[in-house]
Amino acid sequence: MMEIIIHRGTKEIGGSCVELIINKKRLLIDIGLPLDYDSWSEEEKGDYENKMSSIIQKADAIFLSHYHQDHTGLLNLVPERTPIYLSDPTIRAIIIPEMFFGDVFKGFNFIPIYHRKAITEIEGVRIIPYRVDHSAFGAMAFLIEDLKSNKTILYTGDIRLHGLSKTSYLSLKQNVDYMLLEGTNIGRESNEIIKSEQQVFENFVNIFNSYPSHLNYVWASSLNIDRINLLYDACEETNKILAVDFFTMNILKSMYKHHNVPYGSSCRYIRCFYPNYLTSYIKRIQHRDHLINCVHWCKVSKTEIKENASKYVVMIRPSMIEDIKYIDAGNANYITSIWKEYERDEKYKSFFEYINNKGYNKFYNHTSGHAFVEGLKELNQYLNPNVIIPIHTQEANQYKDIFPNSNILQLSDGKRTLL
Ligand SMILES: [Zn+2]
Repeated sequence: MMEIIIHRGTKEIGGSCVELIINKKRLLIDIGLPLDYDSWSEEEKGDYENKMSSIIQKADAIFLSHYHQDHTGLLNLVPERTPIYLSDPTIRAIIIPEMFFGDVFKGFNFIPIYHRKAITEIEGVRIIPYRVDHSAFGAMAFLIEDLKSNKTILYTGDIRLHGLSKTSYLSLKQNVDYMLLEGTNIGRESNEIIKSEQQVFENFVNIFNSYPSHLNYVWASSLNIDRINLLYDACEETNKILAVDFFTMNILKSMYKHHNVPYGSSCRYIRCFYPNYLTSYIKRIQHRDHLINCVHWCKVSKTEIKENASKYVVMIRPSMIEDIKYIDAGNANYITSIWKEYERDEKYKSFFEYINNKGYNKFYNHTSGHAFVEGLKELNQYLNPNVIIPIHTQEANQYKDIFPNSNILQLSDGKRTLL
């Protein structure tokens, strides 16, 4: 017997948490925080954590599709003994930020999972992870099979068909009974002009080539590894050096032995710099000097960047404003390479005022981490599930128009449903 409860995610993007009860085993897939969680009152947060804590305590196993907070944000509520299945890049992308910004790292029972390698430890259930294309490196989809009834569910996780591994969806299981399908971009597509990572790469190359005497600043996520890879390739193509801060460099360092990321002596086009605020913050905390020292061998100073500005592409965040002021480039391009909505945040106002006052050229070069509607249709046509269950979307009621020949099962948060 297979039952499903989507605790959160049937009518919103983020906060995803799906419970499957199969042959008396309770499995949780993703334990995310809602995207607007920071704006909740302390009381609302407390109530929500209590509610989710009792659900998480009862789980026999937890599966995490990828490391974004809207899928993993409740990790601190997981008991030490509970097995948590997640990919190797996901583990590293959780641990490194914790080493920088966490308190004492709690012990977790992390169990690494691999593309197409079945997880068979849970009685009566078989789970097969599949690598998928998303802005989180190492993101996974899950096929869950009830071994008694032979029913199958595919959880796509966050997925797209226009990134660096865009054909990875072809390895997913076809003709399943149920597919939990994300629909982030349904209803908000018109905001995205750039339709692929390839296009993002070409735009970087064009901008760098068009302004040979300019310094280039790029605001991108330290955890968007595919984007960093592509930025590195654009630097190689245009003979520039990519300068990333030592937090980003620690993430690359943690992954390079097992994954294709730009780190190590063979990567000639990348260097590490030390932003003021982060360096002094780390120095203030005991026993974290190694985070500074371990990537020191590929250091570039801000003075070197200042004196040879046109040679560099500097990956920044608005919190590095002091460093940007120190470099004080006469000619520069500023490129936003994350979701544009982040620019609106009030706390970045002084950063953008500075960029504007300096007269830097501003560009937007980003594509979504989620499938566009065309991609969702292609995915559905190829996978051909018997039933689609909408998740990770604000527009679940549009699924029936987008997939007119499919059966749609629209659930609501917290409701237990027999499959
Ligand atoms: Zn998500």
